[in-house]
Amino acid sequence: MIQTKALTTATSVQLNIKHIDMTYQEAKQQAFKVRWKVGKCFSGDECWCKPIQGEEPIMFMDGDREQEHYIVDSGTISKEIAEYIVDLHNKNIEQ
Ligand SMILES: [Zn+2]
Repeated sequence: MIQTKALTTATSVQLNIKHIDMTYQEAKQQAFKVRWKVGKCFSGDECWCKPIQGEEPIMFMDGDREQEHYIVDSGTISKEIAEYIVDLHNKNIEQ
């Protein structure tokens, strides 16, 4: 029983990874359905800001280039607010 569940989970993760040809619009919709994490600002850990991104990177195609969709970009919100929003969102989708 447990093994079956693990198998199902592994399959759906694989499907998610395979789903790389999402459009930007699809990536934006997908973002509501997956868990988020507080990311790392490209300026380094000392920076006041923190981006929010999918726990698993939410990728979309920008022309022929694959890009990660950030829920909130760097330079927008502070670490404290990012942690607060991520926590609220993850609790919300667990229900
Ligand atoms: Zn920053």
